[in-house]
Amino acid sequence: MSIRAAVMTRPHAPLEIWEFDTPRLEPGSVLLETVASEVCGTDVHLHRGRLAGVPYPIIPGHVSVGRVLESAGVETDATGAPLSPGDLVTFYDVHEVCGTCWHCLVAGQPNRCPSRRVYGITYSAAEGLLGGWAERIYLKPGVRLFKLPEPLTASDVIGGGCGLFTGFAAVERSSFQMAETVLIQGSGPVGLAAAAFSALRGAALTIVVGAPGDRLALAQALGADLTLSLEELSPRDRREAVLEVTDGRGADTVIEASGNPAAVNEGFDLLRDGGTYVIAGHYTDAGEIELNPHLAINRKHAVVRGQWGTEFRHVFGALKLLAKHRNRLDFARVIGRRYGLEEANRAIDDVATLSVPKAVIEPETRA
Ligand SMILES: [Zn+2]
Ligand SMILES: [Zn+2]
Repeated sequence: MSIRAAVMTRPHAPLEIWEFDTPRLEPGSVLLETVASEVCGTDVHLHRGRLAGVPYPIIPGHVSVGRVLESAGVETDATGAPLSPGDLVTFYDVHEVCGTCWHCLVAGQPNRCPSRRVYGITYSAAEGLLGGWAERIYLKPGVRLFKLPEPLTASDVIGGGCGLFTGFAAVERSSFQMAETVLIQGSGPVGLAAAAFSALRGAALTIVVGAPGDRLALAQALGADLTLSLEELSPRDRREAVLEVTDGRGADTVIEASGNPAAVNEGFDLLRDGGTYVIAGHYTDAGEIELNPHLAINRKHAVVRGQWGTEFRHVFGALKLLAKHRNRLDFARVIGRRYGLEEANRAIDDVATLSVPKAVIEPETRA
């Protein structure tokens, strides 16, 4: 049988539908029938050539949900849950982290492991069905599978997508204490997830700065107490609004999830003295800014942390909480539109223009 996939041949070129042979399963591998794969901001950046080391042509799609079609000796998921054909699973997109290099062993930073490969980003289409925008996904031996806990559906997981895991990781990285004021910059999937998990973790006040209005409404539905519009309020108005609810001090913790370099100075400006600033929205290189180190960091006595990518425990933790608090963390509602493989170009355009909060590729959906 031939398997269709949407292929990003090179930056800026329209995606093409290519056909692939059914892969032969090596021991320890699993073949999934793709149910849904997300389109995230990173895919827009990949299409614009903004990440170094991407081996075009690639099959994009790093976070996906699929049904187990066939496995070559894989009887459980990464947590030990029994796995059978037909089970709905997602998987940790990062693969081939070595566990033996300095980054893995000494620094405890597997994100920086030089062997690290990522489905949908750093595998070439020449290496096989290693991205989610395809009718099938080939999970190489060692890929960490996660069976969706009851009652989660594919839409629950993909509605959050990688933003769910990155948002979870950013909140954890901030180490904020219960009853703090947490301000999130950005109302895309990472910002929405960071807001939801901040509220769940016990922030006394969760503030989201973002746009457009429909995303801010989603932020409120997912747990934000206060939203401040980038479109309707000037930077000065936003600052006044934050000072007003923080007794003039600013937010205890700020999480940047906007992907916009220009947001960083405002983030420092809205942070209280001695507060913590987590930069999580710049997975790809969106450019440079001018920054006054004295005012922004040194005199402010700020703690600044970066969060690049995620680890398996973030996927595990986010899905555990999603399963437990499904009504509260209703990420299925974030999905703006579902696209067939032939509509991949439109999906990327819609994400780039922010016309949908979350775009999802469903290979079975025909244009
Ligand atoms: Zn390593
Ligand atoms: Zn992503």
